[in-house]
Amino acid sequence: MAHALRDALECGLIHTSNLFATRPALELARALVAGAFPSKVFFCNSGAEANEAAMKFSRRWARAAGAEEKTGFIAFRGSFHGRLMGSLAVTDREAYQAPFRPLMPGVHFLDVGDRAGVEALLATGAVAAVFIEPVQGEGGVFPVPFGFLRELRALCDAHGSLLIFDEVQCGLGRTGRLFAHQHASVTPDLMTLAKPLAGGLPMGAVLAAPAVADAMKPGDHGTTFGGGPLVASVALAVVRTLSDPGFLEGVAQRGGVLRDALEALRARVPGVREVRGLGLLQGVVLEGEAAPVVARCRELGLLVVSAGPNVVRLLPPLVASEEELETGTALLEASLT
Ligand code: PLP
Repeated sequence: MAHALRDALECGLIHTSNLFATRPALELARALVAGAFPSKVFFCNSGAEANEAAMKFSRRWARAAGAEEKTGFIAFRGSFHGRLMGSLAVTDREAYQAPFRPLMPGVHFLDVGDRAGVEALLATGAVAAVFIEPVQGEGGVFPVPFGFLRELRALCDAHGSLLIFDEVQCGLGRTGRLFAHQHASVTPDLMTLAKPLAGGLPMGAVLAAPAVADAMKPGDHGTTFGGGPLVASVALAVVRTLSDPGFLEGVAQRGGVLRDALEALRARVPGVREVRGLGLLQGVVLEGEAAPVVARCRELGLLVVSAGPNVVRLLPPLVASEEELETGTALLEASLT
């Protein structure tokens, strides 16, 4: 993305007040919406900020519809949505929450797949939105069953609540589709993005269906730096690259190569319980702890990260070649044995 950054710098306009629209932000919004679902886009600076905004948008939408009591959220066991006060409240990690209580009230955690639990909570009429990562990242690289995502859609429609997909980690090509939920052929009301969006520069985004976006009035929400012309120009180059069907096919194909290599490793190496994931987001579930394996990988020159106590999470670059993926798998095997 260096060329995009250079071009953006040469154009000279790094920042404007968010009172002004600039062309890069408008083009970026158009590119995102074209690849996603009919929506309007709010730009911010991180994944947690995007999720905070999605919560505000949900409550504003409910209030505008006269449903004053719809202020709560459903989130799921294993979720991670960020470390600000709202996003932390919908994050299912005791160690992250405990030092900062009291958190935002009105959050209910359920197991992924608990359809009856979701229905019972939605039936109370107190839930503004259901929050879910289509592939849980921090929670252990757990692809949510597509059928459950579709059930959530139907339940939210039936009870007049919103469905929010957090694609901060699993979105933008990582799973071999531009957005992970597209594997399940289901559309959310809101989607949050960040991490790779501006190729390493800080940027987040919320896509909100028009009915939700239109409930927001000027002054309801804002941010000084969100969607500035410099980051937006770089993000536009990123999104154009990622939206190319040939590029996405390549990610899916190399995701398959990685998956096969990891399954072969599982069959050979004792202590590897399971391999799960989607595309180039894969988790290797161990019998024992992941931390020492992650440390040994680093010594051998392979950067991986844990996801919960016993899962080694692999997020190789989307441009990694088959050969590099095989080399990485061999280094992982060496660190395990
Ligand atoms: N949501 C998900 C699914 C994430 O994985 C993360 C970060 O790991 C976040 C939200 C928070 O993003 P950020 O660190 O940009 O605030």
